[in-house]
Amino acid sequence: MKRLEGKVCLITGAGQGIGEATALKFAREGAVVVACDLKPEQVEAVAQACRAAGAQAEGHVMDVTDRAQVDAVVAGVLAAHGRIDVLVNNAGITQDARLQKMTLEQFDRVIDVNLRGVFHCSQAVSNQMVSQGSGVILNASSVVGLYGNFGQTNYAATKFGVIGFTKTWARELSPKGVRVNAVAPGFIKTPMIATVPDKVLDDLAQKVPLKRLGQAEEIANAYAFLASDEASYITGAVLEVDGGLTL
Ligand code: NAP
Repeated sequence: MKRLEGKVCLITGAGQGIGEATALKFAREGAVVVACDLKPEQVEAVAQACRAAGAQAEGHVMDVTDRAQVDAVVAGVLAAHGRIDVLVNNAGITQDARLQKMTLEQFDRVIDVNLRGVFHCSQAVSNQMVSQGSGVILNASSVVGLYGNFGQTNYAATKFGVIGFTKTWARELSPKGVRVNAVAPGFIKTPMIATVPDKVLDDLAQKVPLKRLGQAEEIANAYAFLASDEASYITGAVLEVDGGLTL
């Protein structure tokens, strides 16, 4: 049985990497996929791939830092489908530097996308989910949001912050039928880590008990589970999907 049959699922940062894999996984699970990202050609290609997998799907340009754009996309989805069942707050960026070197621009930009963007999208769908009496919000944290990381002051703060959102919104919204959870991926092979030299990636892989980096599809599988009714008693949780990295 398809686990997300007919569920209207909005995924941010769906143009590549984990977001793209999640859109395709959700499509195969029967979802109505709303794939959102910055580049029109990317969202259209992902929506097309979802349709090729047999799903109803549409692509939207949506910058999560632009509240007016987020509100317009949510309004459009509601006009077309009448509901939003799942929001995956996947869009995220890095701009790394050590504390002593980090510019205010680097700090602000990462906070803007990874933290304010998650707030924008979640707030934009929250009234609808509460009035439906059902919904799922899934947030992209990271192992860096559990343990910190050298050179990632801004990113770590956002990924810890997303866990704070998750637990707060789970308290506020779960009594109204809306589940809120986070996924904390380890090192996953996506364009986000494409600039990391192979030697560094090989060393990282050796630190993982499963002795390899993760695939975007392995994070998508976790999102699909948490989005589905199989996770009906799970809220406020942070699911680590990291090959045992944080053991
Ligand atoms: P990715 O390959 O860089 O994909 C992220 C997508 O988000 C890109 O398409 C990017 O567009 C888009 N995006 C950036 N800024 C945006 C904005 N303001 N509004 C809307 N979309 C925006 O990253 P990924 O590796 O798939 O990561 C996805 C999520 O998982 C992120 O939140 C990341 O922090 C988290 N995560 C990843 C890893 C990992 O190892 N890969 C580990 C832990 C957590 P552009 O490319 O055009 O900028």
